[in-house]
Amino acid sequence: VDMSRIRNFSIVAHVDHGKSTLADRLLELTGAIKPGNENSQVLDQLQVERERGITVKAVTASLNYKYKNEDYLLNLIDTPGHVDFSNEVVRSVKACQGVIFLVDANEGVQAQTVAVHSLAKRNNLIIIPTLNKVDLPRADPENTKSQLKSLFNIDPDTVLSISAKKGWGVQELLEAVITRIPPPKADLNKHFKATIIDTWHDKYRGVMCLAYIESGSIEVGQTVKWRSDLKQHTLKYLALLRPNEEPIEKAVAGQVVMVGCGPKGGGSVGDELLSLESAEETKVASAPTVKHMVYAGIFPSDQSQHTQLSDAIKKLALNDSAVSVNVDSSPALGQGWRLGFLGLLHLDVFTQRLLQEHKAEAILTAPSVPYKIKVKGAKAIKQYKGEEVIITNPLLLPDPHNIVEYYEPYVIGTIITPVEYIGAVNTLCVDRRGTPLPSSSVDEKMTMMQFILPLSEVVIDFHDTLKSLTSGFASFDYQDYGFHSSSLVRMDILINGALVDELTTIVHTSRLEYSARRLTTKLKEMIPRQMVQIAIQAVVSGKVYSRETLKAYRKDVTAKLYGGDVTRRKKLLKQQAEGKKKMRSVANIKIPRNTFVDVLKR
Ligand code: GDP
Ligand code: MG
Repeated sequence: VDMSRIRNFSIVAHVDHGKSTLADRLLELTGAIKPGNENSQVLDQLQVERERGITVKAVTASLNYKYKNEDYLLNLIDTPGHVDFSNEVVRSVKACQGVIFLVDANEGVQAQTVAVHSLAKRNNLIIIPTLNKVDLPRADPENTKSQLKSLFNIDPDTVLSISAKKGWGVQELLEAVITRIPPPKADLNKHFKATIIDTWHDKYRGVMCLAYIESGSIEVGQTVKWRSDLKQHTLKYLALLRPNEEPIEKAVAGQVVMVGCGPKGGGSVGDELLSLESAEETKVASAPTVKHMVYAGIFPSDQSQHTQLSDAIKKLALNDSAVSVNVDSSPALGQGWRLGFLGLLHLDVFTQRLLQEHKAEAILTAPSVPYKIKVKGAKAIKQYKGEEVIITNPLLLPDPHNIVEYYEPYVIGTIITPVEYIGAVNTLCVDRRGTPLPSSSVDEKMTMMQFILPLSEVVIDFHDTLKSLTSGFASFDYQDYGFHSSSLVRMDILINGALVDELTTIVHTSRLEYSARRLTTKLKEMIPRQMVQIAIQAVVSGKVYSRETLKAYRKDVTAKLYGGDVTRRKKLLKQQAEGKKKMRSVANIKIPRNTFVDVLKR
């Protein structure tokens, strides 16, 4: 392969703007698949194949295309595209030199359009601005072009127009990929080195990897080593994904290929595969710095399904290297895990895949964010291994006397909304402790608003509330804005004086009274009345901020049966006992399990 004839690119877009449909057309046009009506979202369907243990990774395709009598190798690399999948994990972007930046000419620029554009810009990629869905009668290409001009300073003359559905303009787009995007800057003359962009599990062949070859070349049978542990392996599998596997004997710098070293061969995202001679590379790479922004507990809905869920999480985590998995247990929910995600979308995608691809039934707790603190006092510093500590579990917050400073994660939220909802959006964001940034006009009807928002105020319900406030017309996306100093406290919930571990939270001081009242009233509604009176208190540093009392009630289901029918009586007692299994007992008070999941949601 001649490197000047390789193009590595990806398609980025707001959700539903036509990424998958365009990918189908590109596959057809390059002969990777036969044209026809059955080709609906081929790359997506491959996920289903993977579920059944067939080894095709759904995210990439090497395409052959003849342009001006020259053969080109075009690698379409799927990038997660979303800001959740933050810079350091978007390895796939590293393998790309350009992107097709797709915008629905019917809907116009949306919040995620802004996010993917800035991702491409940050990575210095060539951007091919492309309007899609121009076949629709209500499409307004001229207006969408002027949106692109005013928001991103994109020259309208460089914008292509296509209909991915009808195939209009797709050939011109493919030619723009060849003429506008440069070939990869890989070096054929150096030692072999490939970065792993993605991994997945194959039942028979072990870990399979998608790799971008940065330098040198590789052949099947060659001995290679991982940068992370320097262990040597034989390269067993080498293939192009077209998108079906096509085995090859040799691959060179600039290419994107599937590699595998067999069942014990290893491989993980971000690691590097090296040739034996590459002595200068023999440092152990530091673990990739993934920044988890959202945490949630996950528990089997029934402990008998623990092993099944455990297997599913393990398999999925291999395919999704950004998720962190730690064992967790809760008296209410049993044995489970605490998972760390890059963001809300990541959490959604992971849990959806867990259910769909692995049929795992699980209970998911309300998401929470990590906090950061600075500790003082020699003992505290020693105990917390340093001055600054990330706290992912509120129960592990040290004594307030040892905390010098609290920090919470912030994001820059981007909202694109029709102008008539500006007031409502503003109120929502200010309510959620947001600070407005200057807004910009998208066109006469739409505006782009930006706010600095605490992530904790965004993780629960923000998107849904925004959608319902704007009749579904506003779109939202956010970008990490780092940790910033904040005024936080730990709030505990006591039931008849006993601490309920699972309900301890970290709250902003300005929200103290509100959160305290909300939690106690909600608990009062959710806990069934029992034989004794129940006091529910929200407490901060020993001070009670809210208290609710649930009156005693004598619940004897068998009383009205006059001790008559014995079997009926037994049946009722059995039912009652089963109900109890789903209860967690605190200070002899029975609390239904779902309380722990639902009470922290808004
Ligand atoms: P993705 O979320 O970006 O992958 O979007 P999809 O490719 O799944 O497309 C979302 C929807 O838009 C689907 O119902 C497609 O059939 C439709 N769609 C995609 N491209 C076009 C187009 O060019 N014209 C029309 N009319 N519909 C399209
Ligand atoms: Mg899609």
